[in-house]
Amino acid sequence: TGSTKEKVLNSIETNNVKFIRLQFTDIQGVVKDVEIPVTQIQKALDVGISFDGSSIEGFVRIDESDMILKPDPDSFAILPWNEKDVVARMICDVYMPDGQPFWGDPRHVLKTMINKAKDMGYEFNVGPELEFFLFEKDNGSATTRPHDFGRYFEFAPADLTEDIRREIVLTLTSLNFDIEASHHEVAFGQHEIDFKYSDALTTADNVMTFKYVTRTIAKMNGLHATFMPKPIFGENGSGMHVNLSLEKDGQNAFYDPDSDMDISDTTKYFIGGLLKHIRPITAITNPIVNSYKRLVPGYEAPVYIAWSGTNRSSLIRIPAARGKSTRVELRSPDPSCNPYLAFAAILAAGLEGINEKVDPGEMVDINIFDLNECERREQCIDILPATLQESSMYLADSDLMKEALGEHVINNILRLAKAEWDLYSMQVHEWEIKRYLNVI
Ligand code: GLN
Ligand code: MG
Ligand code: MG
Ligand code: MG
Repeated sequence: TGSTKEKVLNSIETNNVKFIRLQFTDIQGVVKDVEIPVTQIQKALDVGISFDGSSIEGFVRIDESDMILKPDPDSFAILPWNEKDVVARMICDVYMPDGQPFWGDPRHVLKTMINKAKDMGYEFNVGPELEFFLFEKDNGSATTRPHDFGRYFEFAPADLTEDIRREIVLTLTSLNFDIEASHHEVAFGQHEIDFKYSDALTTADNVMTFKYVTRTIAKMNGLHATFMPKPIFGENGSGMHVNLSLEKDGQNAFYDPDSDMDISDTTKYFIGGLLKHIRPITAITNPIVNSYKRLVPGYEAPVYIAWSGTNRSSLIRIPAARGKSTRVELRSPDPSCNPYLAFAAILAAGLEGINEKVDPGEMVDINIFDLNECERREQCIDILPATLQESSMYLADSDLMKEALGEHVINNILRLAKAEWDLYSMQVHEWEIKRYLNVI
């Protein structure tokens, strides 16, 4: 709107901003940007900046490569770490040369899904919990040597990273994040920083910002931050649990003080939809080969398709808070996912659950990892896809995902996943050498 554009121009003037980084996200969840000098800002705000989309992964064919970036004035923020010149960033929407929104733009995919929810009267809120590792560097290259030997909630002096974590928190705060907590995670060198939930679009934008802020601050401290889901064998991996809720007429639609456990039927159907479609969704929320090394028993990551009250072994749990904070926590996503596509896929499944009144089945309030195969089958508890190849097969078969994410995105994701899987499965791993070289 005119007034937010005014605010951007005012802020540029008062803060003496010299450059603006125009950012967007490719299909694989990687931030791309072009930088414009401040002289171009009026043009960027009025008509957008054109760029060649043919070299962006999952974007367009050569013959339709002149794409347009339109900055979202609400996303204007000054990047706090530039000392010489003041640099701001704006998050952009991607348009085709003919002025239509581009279906390969993950932000557009999420916006479309959010509008479907709005048509049903719902606002979708998401609060993520991002985990990451801080590793040491060796001559400028990243290693997998943890920077500290702290454990869960460790207090200094074991937690060397306290100051760096605080610097990340302060930087995020200056970029309008509302940080709720930060702590050392279970593994050596592993951390978690939680920020306040927001509408799904704002949260997806925030996830992208969170990742480059964390990487930047780590780098400024001579460390390497990684969101790779399972960097170290035998240790916990990094998840991105998502806390999900729907709002209707300003009220939390998951809360119902008059029903069982104080959660509404809407919540149960939403969970029903998630459970029903979780296998194809996994290809979106856990999109890389390494994602599946995390989804194994023994490391607080989910493996079985079930929901529970507060049991943390489940895929889906309902945290104890009620009233305004009533929410559903989905624990399978990891931080390598594209948050726009992940939230769109999750919302599509939840809404279908509500529309079709999908029964989520019985809650499982025991530790499923304690059951043997036989008992697990008796209770009809299925397992999540075990590899990228398997989740991709489910994605290829999912009409709901095709409808929610669009053919363009699905085809590109499947193409990229196949290439990745083929390359991976041809490798001869260190493990195989150790295992077979001397005995076969
Ligand atoms: N790191 C675990 C995961 O992979 C979660 C640990 C926790 O937050 N309790 O999901
Ligand atoms: Mg947490
Ligand atoms: Mg955690
Ligand atoms: Mg959690």
